Amino acid sequence: MTIVWTVNAENPRPEDLREAASLLAAGQLVAFPTETVYGLGANALSSAAIDRLYQAKGRPRANPLIVHVADLESAKTICSVWPDTAERLARAFWPGPLTLVLPHCGAIPSGVTAGGETVAIRVPGHPVALELLRLAGVPVAAPSANPSGGISPTLGEHVLEGLDGKIAGLVEAGPCSRGVESTVIDLSGTHPVLLRPGPLSPEEIAQVLGSDPEALLPSADKRKQGPEKSPGRMGRHYAPKAQVVCVQSEAEARACCAVWQQQGKRHAWLALQPGPGTILLPATPAEAMRSIYKVLHKIDKDLIGFLVVQLPNAEGRWLALRDRLLRASLND
Ligand code: AMP
Ligand code: MG
Repeated sequence: MTIVWTVNAENPRPEDLREAASLLAAGQLVAFPTETVYGLGANALSSAAIDRLYQAKGRPRANPLIVHVADLESAKTICSVWPDTAERLARAFWPGPLTLVLPHCGAIPSGVTAGGETVAIRVPGHPVALELLRLAGVPVAAPSANPSGGISPTLGEHVLEGLDGKIAGLVEAGPCSRGVESTVIDLSGTHPVLLRPGPLSPEEIAQVLGSDPEALLPSADKRKQGPEKSPGRMGRHYAPKAQVVCVQSEAEARACCAVWQQQGKRHAWLALQPGPGTILLPATPAEAMRSIYKVLHKIDKDLIGFLVVQLPNAEGRWLALRDRLLRASLND
């Protein structure tokens, strides 16, 4: 059975979180809210807890985990180097939706890092996550709290839909404010590289680094440096059960729907501009990110088998949403 603790999101009382924190420290799996999505927490110092985590999610062992810590000082203790770029980004964005990849110092079991030489770390910007981390007193590995490959949870009920009975507990505190997974920046190479777009755009990151946003993008990096090592960037991900087709124009979306209609297939059309019969996403990047997974969960619930999505443009603030929709449309 999964224990559910419902707590105040803004001002969680330590007594509300003590039991969850002690289960976490003891190696049990506890899901908790962050500002991005709900994470499935496991004590990052315990190989047994990490094994349980991969098992519960059905996650491929080659996909490394993000380690969550309560503050910048704790982050430093896990890394073998702490470059000026890390200091600047951490000071600008932590606690917040930014993950930094750095060389690790060997303190974390290899299961967390998928056997690699780097570790991904962040200080989450959610009062409940921070209090839980402080009380647990250990670094906590926390991928999204859903079966691997599926839609990330942004509400407690989403966590239970996928993992009820498979995890020890869930701390529930309402919706996640950002709604998509953190921006991941690799600082282990010769210059910073964006590994995963997220709530913080390349422009926001580049501004702090005093660099050009284009230089952060992996394609630009490959042109300069040759292929970069980046574990864990799997194919199909963030996907509803529906088959997802991404298109650019309204005409293409309309054509898809016409075919499905003719074939008698249950389908939907997701768009950023209003149109006949569309499911409308909010028009600003922040709002669209906040609601995308809730919308996809609802599409699953409504047993929609086919979904056409009109992609946002490739501009920086829309990159994360574009990335998630494109990955949802891959076949494997
Ligand atoms: P999630 O499934 O949300 O936990 O995603 C973890 C993300 O962090 C993946 O996209 C990985 O690419 C990235 N990540 C975690 N650890 C590392 C690492 N050591 N090196 C590079 N990327 C990492
Ligand atoms: Mg995930």
